[in-house]
Amino acid sequence: MKDQYGRTIDYLRISVTDRCNLRCTYCMPEEGITCIPHEEILRYEEMEQICRIMAEMGLKHIKVTGGEPLVRKGISGFIRTLKEIPGIETVTLTTNGILLESMAEELASAGIDGINVSLDTLDEEAFRAITRGGDVKRVLAGLRKMHQYPQITLKINCVLGGKNWKKNAVSVAELAKNHPIHVRFIEHMPIGREPEKEAKREEQVRVVLETVYGPSILCEKPMGFGPSVYYHFEGFVGKIGFISAVSHKFCSGCNRIRLTADGRLRMCLQSGNSTDLKAVLRGENPEGLESVIQKSVYEKPREHHFDKESIETVSMSQIGG
Ligand code: SAM
Ligand code: SF4
Repeated sequence: MKDQYGRTIDYLRISVTDRCNLRCTYCMPEEGITCIPHEEILRYEEMEQICRIMAEMGLKHIKVTGGEPLVRKGISGFIRTLKEIPGIETVTLTTNGILLESMAEELASAGIDGINVSLDTLDEEAFRAITRGGDVKRVLAGLRKMHQYPQITLKINCVLGGKNWKKNAVSVAELAKNHPIHVRFIEHMPIGREPEKEAKREEQVRVVLETVYGPSILCEKPMGFGPSVYYHFEGFVGKIGFISAVSHKFCSGCNRIRLTADGRLRMCLQSGNSTDLKAVLRGENPEGLESVIQKSVYEKPREHHFDKESIETVSMSQIGG
């Protein structure tokens, strides 16, 4: 799939649910969001149908996300189905890790290629505050369990903020020192909630880590299929990555599109424009799906405009991050 700027689009993020078992302060309001009615959520078969068509058009990589994907019943079976689609090379998952320990085995046997766990702090109190009630011990138990499955790439997504951000940066990075885990620091984006006034930028975080762990070396070889830039620190097993959508705009190399739980195809995290694939699928001319996708992809916006102080009002849990 190509867009009008010549970018190859081969990566789809599917939000399988807008529901979540946490309420991270920067992602969801405390009272939660108004959930999409059950009948408006795409069925797994419908998501599969979209993925099959896209795979024929050049889709290679799928990330399953949410809301919290592990709260949707039957998720491992769905992952297994995605893995069997001809042309799909990798299927990965982004999760808050709360249910990971109990589901690791079924995810592994479904053939998942990689799991990204969101973890902003190791401190129990702070984790409870950021997630409004989450238990970090469950996430850490999930990470420990994953060591039984070395074939599955393990990454951590960390959004830094608040007064203890330096301490959190060092303690979360430490996981990459001792384990085969890649830790990525994600810049807070002005999506869904008020912009975080003290969002930490890549350079600030790297300086803090270098003070503790010594100089970092940029990894020239790309890792993964996304926008992360990775660094190696002496003595570390895993790498340290940065996803800096705001301070280091990476739109020119963007290869991804997003499918929301209610079947809308979004071309950019920020742009509110989307195409209602569910209406096509459930309408009178489902054969038209391929050309609808083709047209939407072609019209993918050139770049986001986070820098123009515009705030996307739909929450990240609704778009899938
Ligand atoms: N519930 C799963 C999880 O937390 O990993 C998957 C969905 S969550 C929306 C995906 C990612 O988006 C998480 O790593 C989360 O930290 C990140 N995220 C949410 N809101 C964000 C924001 N405003 N800026 C940057 N990242 C954000
Ligand atoms: Fe839920 Fe993930 Fe959003 Fe946190 S970041 S509220 S875990 S969807």
